Amino acid sequence: LDRRIEIVNPNDEIGRLAAILNSLIARLERAVIEIQRFTADASHELRTPLAALRSEVELALQTRRSPEEYEQALTIVLDEATRLGRMADQLLSLSRYDAGLHGNELESIRLDALLFDVADQLRPLAVKRNVTMECGDVQPCEMQGDVIRLSQAFSNIMENALKYTPEHGRVDIHCRVVNDVAVIEVQDTGIGIATEHLPHVFDRFYRADASRSTAVGGTGLGLSIAQSAVGAHGGVIHLSGMPDCGTLATIRLPGVTPASDDLEIGPSLS
Ligand code: ADP
Repeated sequence: LDRRIEIVNPNDEIGRLAAILNSLIARLERAVIEIQRFTADASHELRTPLAALRSEVELALQTRRSPEEYEQALTIVLDEATRLGRMADQLLSLSRYDAGLHGNELESIRLDALLFDVADQLRPLAVKRNVTMECGDVQPCEMQGDVIRLSQAFSNIMENALKYTPEHGRVDIHCRVVNDVAVIEVQDTGIGIATEHLPHVFDRFYRADASRSTAVGGTGLGLSIAQSAVGAHGGVIHLSGMPDCGTLATIRLPGVTPASDDLEIGPSLS
């Protein structure tokens, strides 16, 4: 069905108005298709953990099991329920963030302090996974931004580095300012990403095979949230890495100025 308005004379006022309306209609159509695709993907992705939950519970009700077997089943149920909860939270963030960045949410942010803070929040995960995480060369710097969205972006990327790095691995975080652009690097020594997966990792719900097969529960939404947050600040995220050679995530944020090293930052801030 063609919803476009027929343009009789493109040069008169009505013709010009019709052209503007047509381009608005085309944009709306694209947005509707995007929403339909997103809703279909989301319901598909929500169904998978729900189905796993259901079959575990049904099996547990049908057959007598030993206490150990019940415990095992309940652990699976808890993991899947946690994953569902996380997915619901992330879907909510994505739908809120699609609206873009609001001027009234901007504040002056010390990026170096924020990186240390986020790393500290993830310290228990690093300890649990027996991975060494260090903020090495982090230059003091500041920018105007939405602190909640930026910390979510850093957190998702650092959490991935920890999640996809086996025991005894390392995650190193650096930040330097080059021509008013902060270059933040998160390097891990983990499972890496095969070249064919790299172009897709920012797609919603996308998970590379290697990570699906690890015991790590994920939703495939973390990087798209990070990209939307960094993109709203005019920045970009780039991932590179080879299978088994670790991954390097580089976040570039513009409008950053070096700051004097006058803050006492580090573990004491968290
Ligand atoms: P997930 O919840 O699956 O981690 P993300 O959107 O954060 O979702 O990441 C998408 C996919 O990108 C992951 O499933 C994984 O395959 C890959 N990936 C992201 N970061 C890393 C990393 N540091 N090392 C290896 N693979 C990664």
